[in-house]
Amino acid sequence: MINQELLKIGKGRTVIRRLFEYGKERRKAGEPVYDFSLGNPNVQPPACVNEALARIATEHRDSLHEYTLGPGYESTRQAVADDLNRRFGLELGYANIFMTCGASPGLRAAFEALRERKEDEIVILSPYFPEYPLFINNAGATPIIVPCKDDLTPDFDALKKAINENTKAVIVNSPNNPSGIVYDEKTRKQLVAVLEEKQAELGRPLVMITDEPYRELVYDVPDHCFMADYDNTILCYSYSKSLSLPGERIGYVAVNPKMQNAEDMYWALSGAIRMLGYVCAPAIFQKVVEECASARPNIEQYSKNRNLLHGELTRIGFECVKPDGAFYLCLKAKDGNSVRVSDVAKKLGILIVPCDEFGAKGFVRIAYCVKEETIKESIPAFEKLYELLNE
Ligand code: PLP
Repeated sequence: MINQELLKIGKGRTVIRRLFEYGKERRKAGEPVYDFSLGNPNVQPPACVNEALARIATEHRDSLHEYTLGPGYESTRQAVADDLNRRFGLELGYANIFMTCGASPGLRAAFEALRERKEDEIVILSPYFPEYPLFINNAGATPIIVPCKDDLTPDFDALKKAINENTKAVIVNSPNNPSGIVYDEKTRKQLVAVLEEKQAELGRPLVMITDEPYRELVYDVPDHCFMADYDNTILCYSYSKSLSLPGERIGYVAVNPKMQNAEDMYWALSGAIRMLGYVCAPAIFQKVVEECASARPNIEQYSKNRNLLHGELTRIGFECVKPDGAFYLCLKAKDGNSVRVSDVAKKLGILIVPCDEFGAKGFVRIAYCVKEETIKESIPAFEKLYELLNE
């Protein structure tokens, strides 16, 4: 009577969920908790978000809670397109943008829209967001995971080997969750070269699905949009991180107008979104996005957090990957046992996530989208952690 596979997924408690529940119990018992487990931004949205929200609530009373067109308001989509065009030299119009309930449904719909045969494969570059393989399997395709190098940078030789006649697309994520790595120009060129070479070999388009919810969260390096580098691109975006709106469920998918069969791809995405039961993205937050399309996160706060955490952890003696973007930092387990690091840390009240499930074996992820005080207060506990791990 019940789909056992979904039952298992639904009942399954992720490591993050288990840590979250443990933290709740500890707090109840009055013990200190330094929660670095979730990518739930504690930094406030840019001021324009709450201003727009208040104005929209009074000015648009008649249409505040209405259904919108499936792809969203044309004016919202045009505002999104204008911002991308201005920043990255693209040629998008509203007809290339589809508003979604965050990046997750956009990704899920992209996998669905691309799948034609049961043999179809989607290649995932490690490290990666652990929902990708679930979404790909559920869309009826097969996820193929390409391991990264030891320093968590992409391994393009391994990517070349992974692409074959069944490969429909390659999914990339930069700034990256969990590593915080931002692909520089050279890396992006290498990636595009592999895709172009393989595309020529296959004699058909090879799609790049780009997952860019952290695009604006970059420190000391320029932001980038993969669509500017490669024509056959589907871009999945979310305002969960850049505008600190994870619970409001707002984002978009953009199809590059230069992509082969771009219009059909757009409507296949539209069909997938409909079949998945998403009628439209939230009307109020479409309007907020329209007004705040060019707003940026409080990067100073994130940058301060990154510098503080990275500086302190390396001073203590931990080996870390210095993040150039997103709000995650990967710390290396000396003996490769990330679960042990997370378990010992947990007993000290530090909630950090083993990254083996993210394709970053032997690392733990620290989400520093928290209050600066949390980082400052956690430092003695990290000192103790280092001691315990090295005794
Ligand atoms: N992609 C990556 C890399 C993420 O880290 C997340 C959320 O943490 C998502 C996608 C999903 O974002 P959304 O909240 O918009 O569904």
